[in-house]
Amino acid sequence: MTNDLTIDDDWNALYIDGDWVSSEEGESLAVEDPSTREVVAEVPSATEADVDAAYESAVAAQEKWGEQLPAQRQAVIQQLMEAVDEHSDEIVELLTEEVGGTHVMGHTSIHIANDHAGEAATLPRRMKGEHADSNIPGKENLLKRGPKGVVTVISPWNFPLNLSMRAVAPAIAAGNSVVLKPSTNSPITGGLLFGKLFEETDLPDGVLNIVTGRGSEIGDSIASHPESDVVSFTGSTEVGQHVAGLAGENLAVPAMELGGNNAFIVTRDADLDNALDAATFASFVHQGQVCISINRHIVHEDIYDEYVERLTERAEELITGSAHKPDTDVGPIIDESQRDEMLEYVESTIEAGATLETGGEIVNIDDVDDSLVVAPTVLSDVTNEMSAACNEHFGPIAPVIPFSDVDEAVEIANDTEYGLSGAVHADDLAVAKDIAERMETGNVHINDQPINDEAHVPFSGIGASGMGSYNSDAFLHEITETKWISIQHEPRDYSL
Ligand code: NAP
Repeated sequence: MTNDLTIDDDWNALYIDGDWVSSEEGESLAVEDPSTREVVAEVPSATEADVDAAYESAVAAQEKWGEQLPAQRQAVIQQLMEAVDEHSDEIVELLTEEVGGTHVMGHTSIHIANDHAGEAATLPRRMKGEHADSNIPGKENLLKRGPKGVVTVISPWNFPLNLSMRAVAPAIAAGNSVVLKPSTNSPITGGLLFGKLFEETDLPDGVLNIVTGRGSEIGDSIASHPESDVVSFTGSTEVGQHVAGLAGENLAVPAMELGGNNAFIVTRDADLDNALDAATFASFVHQGQVCISINRHIVHEDIYDEYVERLTERAEELITGSAHKPDTDVGPIIDESQRDEMLEYVESTIEAGATLETGGEIVNIDDVDDSLVVAPTVLSDVTNEMSAACNEHFGPIAPVIPFSDVDEAVEIANDTEYGLSGAVHADDLAVAKDIAERMETGNVHINDQPINDEAHVPFSGIGASGMGSYNSDAFLHEITETKWISIQHEPRDYSL
């Protein structure tokens, strides 16, 4: 069956045991288009009873699914990729309508989502066990790898499609069942859409279950659910710590990818054209709402003035406005509270002595009350203690901090609780590699920018940025377990 996927479809149903069902109390939540500020859809506000029903369905379906042949599980994920490809234009449109994603953001999301699905499709054939020699004569040790059981996936709104995909697809490929809880800001593209896409595959009913609703209302019952074996969470550090605690109490594995405050170091001999291309992209793509975007530009004092001037020129060249316009570079922020918090960071950074080079204000859009678009903002004379630098600002803001020597640059970069991503630009690769090795972060990229995700390469945050790794074998180990089976082939000496 091929679904038609538009925002006008009926999205007001939970996906449980292969059926679209109303929430137990029939309450719903509105979905607002951040560009137009209009309500474009309604989704269910699930209750704890709905959550229980989702886990009951996941438990009932898992064992049989886990026993399916690797090729059968692989085929389902390949069918999922075909469905994503077939619906790519509709999905890009949905991302625009639900989270204000520009066309670049939409197409990037599809590309990364299918990269993750493509990697996941290889997992069923790569779930290999081991054979270990024994110190006991006549004994053979076998280690068999199998699914954990039920994987809970809690995802954020900023890149909902690929961030849900990177957990859902491998979990299912490895023989687990899933309960997916998307963000209230992206219940369709991070959640219900997956039900529609999987309906076009041979996935048995109950292997994927989707509950929408506010984290503040049903989040705890999901994170602490006794039937959950793994809690794969992507979101803020604050919520992640709470969720990891609940998962831990329940002895479910907490797989946590959290916030960041990523540094972009530009040394004196860096190729400035390249550095500025990378800097402009990674500060402003998707309005800076990327966990691995550049939060702080740390630039050598000899090139500082030129860097600030040229970054400002580039920021001013970007086209701002509704994400519905195909040429828009910088669209709306997800909601008012996010927008206002970010503007407060800018204001207090200026009050603390920084210089506003450009931006720092709302861009009005015709016919839209209280626009969510914020002008690309460059701040100079920033120090690491100022609020736009020491907080994860999650907006189109580029605070630029000067440094005088490499040790100071590294010290500034590491002066944060986070450790997610980063980048360094230098002509001398030995210097760049030395800086990269000293940066306390899970991912770092030389002569590039920090926004990189390749499904076959482990991706992890350290410190307050997370626990565990996504992608490939690293995530496979979190969603599977090994069982030790030993065979005693000859009588063993049991003398006391
Ligand atoms: P968030 O507020 O922490 O929410 C993340 C998810 O947790 C949402 O689905 C949210 O649901 C849910 N939630 C809230 N309270 C909960 C509770 N008590 N129990 C269980 N779940 C609960 O984060 P966000 O604003 O959506 O996303 C932005 C953050 O995600 C940023 O900090 C960003 O850096 C981080 N992020 C990290 C990565 C990475 O790979 N490290 C990638 C992307 C984003 P509701 O929406 O219903 O509240």
